[in-house]
Amino acid sequence: MIYINNKEKLEQFKKKNNFFSIIDFDRTITTGASEASLGIIPKFLGGRCLEERLKTYNHYRPLELDYTIEKEEKRKIMREWATKTFTILSKYLTSEKIIDDSLQNANLHLRNGAKEFLQSLYEKNIPLIIMSAGVGNLIKRFLEKEGVLYDNINLISNFFEFKDNKTYINTEKLMASSNKDYSKIPEDIRKILDKKENILLCGDIVEDIRMIDTKQRDKTLTIGFLDHNIEKNLDIYNNNFDIVLTDNEDFNTVMEILRR
Ligand SMILES: [Mg+2]
Repeated sequence: MIYINNKEKLEQFKKKNNFFSIIDFDRTITTGASEASLGIIPKFLGGRCLEERLKTYNHYRPLELDYTIEKEEKRKIMREWATKTFTILSKYLTSEKIIDDSLQNANLHLRNGAKEFLQSLYEKNIPLIIMSAGVGNLIKRFLEKEGVLYDNINLISNFFEFKDNKTYINTEKLMASSNKDYSKIPEDIRKILDKKENILLCGDIVEDIRMIDTKQRDKTLTIGFLDHNIEKNLDIYNNNFDIVLTDNEDFNTVMEILRR
């Protein structure tokens, strides 16, 4: 289903060709049924790595979905989760090759039309930020393998470094779902964003809207994919996104809406 909640903004947007785009990765560029990029390596490695990942996941995931926890407290808890997860990963992710291997049978699939959509942004010279609290190295390899890692793309995420058979990541500077916001965009890109007349933002959770600054809301067309708990969440999505696409709608629909 397609819900257009802000016709005026859409009409305004359609007249523009000079926009900037910011898109979430997990379950936005990928299908709603895809695995999150953070879960792919533990699943591939199995054993202790998977065990430790599941233990933290089962503890923190219910807290993530708990909207009664005070905001600051929740941010702290979510940061703690990210630190633990990336600490586990760096312990078992002993080589870059594991990333490649884990992608072989991973349940990670581009949403329909995503390929054509990314290609058209590239051809039209529209800058694109892909912002993800997942594993940047893995996302980069995935996009590369799919043949869509174009040079208009700026991937802002968490990257492991591999040096002398050791794996490094600065857990102090992690981007977690709780701090994945405008402040994480490098300043030189923010300057370009400020100048653009329009921004297109796509995400699959309401918090994804924080990828832009509140003062840019008026010039940003926000599109939300809602594939899970649709009945329960439809109102909150409709209240927050300009356009809501449910039931595995795809980027063909996005392109059609923008063209129509
Ligand atoms: Mg997502």
